[in-house]
Order: sequence, then C-alpha cells, then structure tokens
Amino acid sequence: MIAVEPLAGMETQVGGGHVVFGGGIAGLTIARELLKQGCHVTVVEKGATVGGLARTFERDGFRFDIGGHRFHSNNPSVVQWLKDLLGADLLTVPRFSHIYLNQQFVDYPIQFPGALTIFSPLKAIQMVSSYLMAKLTERQRRDVSFEDWVIKRYGRALYEVFFQPYTEKVWGIPGDRLSAAWASQRIGIPSMWRAVRHAIFPPQKAPATAISQFYLSP
Ligand SMILES: Cc1cc2nc3c(=O)[nH]c(=O)nc-3n(C[C@H](O)[C@H](O)[C@H](O)COP(=O)(O)OP(=O)(O)OC[C@H]3O[C@@H](n4cnc5c(N)ncnc54)[C@H](O)[C@@H]3O)c2cc1C
Repeated sequence: MIAVEPLAGMETQVGGGHVVFGGGIAGLTIARELLKQGCHVTVVEKGATVGGLARTFERDGFRFDIGGHRFHSNNPSVVQWLKDLLGADLLTVPRFSHIYLNQQFVDYPIQFPGALTIFSPLKAIQMVSSYLMAKLTERQRRDVSFEDWVIKRYGRALYEVFFQPYTEKVWGIPGDRLSAAWASQRIGIPSMWRAVRHAIFPPQKAPATAISQFYLSP
C-alpha cells in the first residue's frame, strides 16, 4: 500500500476543478492565479484558519504574528504582483530590527565589530580566536548544514551565542538539520571578515537581508 501525503502548496486537478493543499501564502497564491484564469479552485487547509506561517491570530484582544510578515523580494515581477494585489493598502516601512541578546538589544542583521561590545572582553576575545581557528581549519571543514556553514565563516563561539539560539528559536529546527544553502540565502554577509569590512567601508548595494525598508499591509 502506498500512503500519499499531500504537500503544502501543492496543486492537483480533480475533474474540471483544481484542489490546492495548504492555505499558506504559496497555496493561496496558486489558488488566486487559478481563479484569475477562470478555474474552479478548492483550497484544503488542515488548520483552523488559512495563512500558515504568515498568519496573525488574536488572543485577549492582542494580535500576534507567527512570523515577521515583512515582504521583500529581489524579483521585480513578484513585487509588481503584490502591488497589483494590495494597491493602496501596501505600505513601505523603514526597517528597524533588533534582537534581545545578553540582556541588550543588538542590531539584526548583526553588525561587527560593534556587536562584540555587548560581550565581556574575555568573551569577545574568545569569539575572535574561535573565528581565527575556523579560518585556519577552513579547508578541512564541510559545508553541509547551517551549523557547518556558520561555524566555517564566523567561528563556533559566535555560532553558539548568536546564530544557533536565534535560528533554532525562530524556525524550531536544530541548526545541524537546516541546510547550508538555507544559511547562504538568509545571512546576507558571508563571513565575519566581510562583516567587519562592510562596517568600515559600507557597500554601495546593501545585501538582501540588510535592506533598510520593506513592504507591509495593515
Ligand atoms: C518567525 C518567522 C519570521 C518570518 N519572517 C518573514 C518575513 O519577514 N518575510 C518573509 O517574506 N517571510 C518570512 N517568514 C517566512 C514566511 O512566513 C514563510 O516562508 C511563508 O509563510 C511560507 O508559506 P507557505 O505557503 O510556503 O508555507 P506555510 O506557511 O507553512 O503554509 C502551509 C500551509 O499548509 C497547511 N498544511 C500542511 N500540511 C497540510 C496537509 N497535509 N493538508 C492540508 N493543509 C496542510 C498548513 O497548515 C499551512 O497552513 C518568516 C517565518 C517565520 C517562522
């Protein structure tokens, strides 16, 4: 017997209509595009509401976002698609992100060398030496998981203090089970050395995750 597990955002055709499994952003986008083409669509969502990781829920009069809900894309046609969808409801908001770390707010994405000042001098030295150690052994290090990727470029000490707790808290998946490709997409500055260089000589074009503004719909 073969068990068939429907995948989120996967579309299939039943009779004359279409069935989309998963009412997250991907599924709802597919459904909308099919509707625009005049198709009959049914979205099957296993949760009580649609929205998936991008949904907002209410409790005790407060509204909570599961994720950041900040839209940005380097693909102009994707941006245009959203502009057409939301019209005047689409706002441009300056980005101002902080992470609460070591009882202080630090910039996100993390900035160097400023970020090191929130740690004791001993811890900061430990981080720099751990980075130098990672550089020395760079060639022998593999690049399979998120953990491998970050340690190779930032050192183990900084991984354990910053990247690991933050990532595992947000995504709920251990760093050694996330892929290295995912790290390279999410971490705009690819090494501690480049991060320090960017801080001293800011680049003309900001890296993708360090954008200064994003789109938002109220
Ligand atoms: C903390 C956090 C912050 C984030 N911040 C941002 C941000 O600022 N900007 C940004 O662009 N992205 C952000 N993201 C990522 C973004 O939220 C997700 O990439 C996006 O919402 C994924 O949409 P999706 O439709 O692919 O999947 P999902 O949102 O996971 O939707 C899948 C849906 O399918 C349903 N489903 C699953 N299995 C089945 C089944 N068998 N049958 C029927 N239904 C099923 C689920 O219940 C869910 O509703 C963030 C994510 C997190 C967690």
